[in-house]
Amino acid sequence: MKKTTIICLILMLSVSVFAYENHGYDKYEVRYIKEQITADITLQQTLREQNAWQNFLVNHPHWFVSFNQFNLKPHRAYGEPIDLLNGNSTADKVMHFITNELSDFNIPIADISLLDIRENEKYKYLDFYQTYNGLKVHDSRLYVKTTKDDKLVTFGLDVFSDINLSILPTISENDAISNATFGIANAFTNAIVKTDLKILPVPEHNKYTYRLIYEVEFETTISVGPAKYLCLVDANTGELLMRKNTILYETPPPATVHVESNVYAVQPYIPTTVKDLINLRVHVNGTSYYTDQNGDLSLSANVGSNVYYGLEGRWSKVETGGTTPGINTTLGATNNISFDNDATSQERSAYYHVNVVHDYMKTIFPTFTGLDFAMTTNVDVSGSCNAFYGGGSINFYAEGNDCHSMAKIGDVVYHEYGHGINDYRYGNSGMWNGALGEGYADIWGLSITQNPILGLGMSSVDPNDFVRRYDIDRKVYPQDLTGEVHADGEIIAGCWWDTYLGFNNMGQMMDLFKDTYDSAPDGPGGTEGIIFTDILLEALMSDDNDGN
Ligand SMILES: [Zn+2]
Repeated sequence: MKKTTIICLILMLSVSVFAYENHGYDKYEVRYIKEQITADITLQQTLREQNAWQNFLVNHPHWFVSFNQFNLKPHRAYGEPIDLLNGNSTADKVMHFITNELSDFNIPIADISLLDIRENEKYKYLDFYQTYNGLKVHDSRLYVKTTKDDKLVTFGLDVFSDINLSILPTISENDAISNATFGIANAFTNAIVKTDLKILPVPEHNKYTYRLIYEVEFETTISVGPAKYLCLVDANTGELLMRKNTILYETPPPATVHVESNVYAVQPYIPTTVKDLINLRVHVNGTSYYTDQNGDLSLSANVGSNVYYGLEGRWSKVETGGTTPGINTTLGATNNISFDNDATSQERSAYYHVNVVHDYMKTIFPTFTGLDFAMTTNVDVSGSCNAFYGGGSINFYAEGNDCHSMAKIGDVVYHEYGHGINDYRYGNSGMWNGALGEGYADIWGLSITQNPILGLGMSSVDPNDFVRRYDIDRKVYPQDLTGEVHADGEIIAGCWWDTYLGFNNMGQMMDLFKDTYDSAPDGPGGTEGIIFTDILLEALMSDDNDGN
């Protein structure tokens, strides 16, 4: 009883570790190779320098080798063809060669038997297997390749000279079956233990350890269809060492996801429309995936797994009171997800608009990665009728005092994010002039909407109320400087808007605008006259192709 409990604990441990490492392609699979096996150049060199290989090279100088790093014998050795003279059949000749020329590698000759010879137009291929006290050694293979006229060109010695264990099992076949089928959810049938025990060499920590094993087979069903598992169970400890489905599916079961929601795509007086939620995080089995530019994702993960969809993703993490709206559910084959009932319209709209402005910004600064992170997007911040940027987050006040949440107004979100662009992209250390900051933040809004009126829809009582507009009452320097940052910012933003109107092409205006992020005129409050003039100069030079 006690033993069974311990075995169960071991099994639970090994099964759960496996599932984590393999993202659940087959959650029932168990492997006995626990370490990733990689070539160790130093060890390979050390083994080449040892007597066994050096002695071989004395007789066969034009040969090369890579070693099995666990039994320390050649895994593949190859070189100039070696004549095999002694013996009648090819197998006899090969055995003679192994016995006489490879004795330094401690091959357990008495336990080696021929398994198979295959031939094609050029070569013969011989496989030998190993036994230990009459039991087959799993994964043993002594491999030889010869030319058609029996010249040896390759050999490999994946055999084991240090096996030492009892071949009497201490657990019953029934226990082996119950351990092999541990954790299987659906009913299983045809569980059998194969007649012969075997020896399993397990490579770990630079050597092999040897296990006496039962081979168990059973059939069941998994999410994709029928399954027939081959299992190796330690005949002494009961540990499930391998469980492998012998029915091979071409692809892991795919699941498709589409995420969309109703959002205020422009402003609150224009009814919501359904928009794809892009770059949105989908978390399954320890891995985060993201929806694409259509709000789609197809992933290879177990249908039936727990899945989390968050109103967060590559570029925005929406929070209300520190909490991100999320949907926890089970992954189906097809998953059409909407946040309409799981997030407020201001949360959904904010998420949507941050993705719009981030992706637009990337069209202007394609190689800039400073804003490639999920910016905290706070919604329903206490207060009303305002929004702000600060410290790498954007923040929108709650609805109230006759104001809508500005998270529902696209160009206000773009403006706040524009402050982030100023902060992360302008010059060497970000923009610090207040008026310049406000004006430049507006340009990110104006250039996306191509609408000179910013903040339309801010009022919950007057649909015509707005924040700023650039099509009338143009402000100019110096007579309109007031010292208030938004008002003074209108001078420089108005310049850029008029430049756009002059070109009648937003892309051409933005080409000049973006260059000023590199020249980066800036200065303290009160120096706007100098800064704006510097910007004009930079823009004129940017617009000039020949330096005259
Ligand atoms: Zn601002």
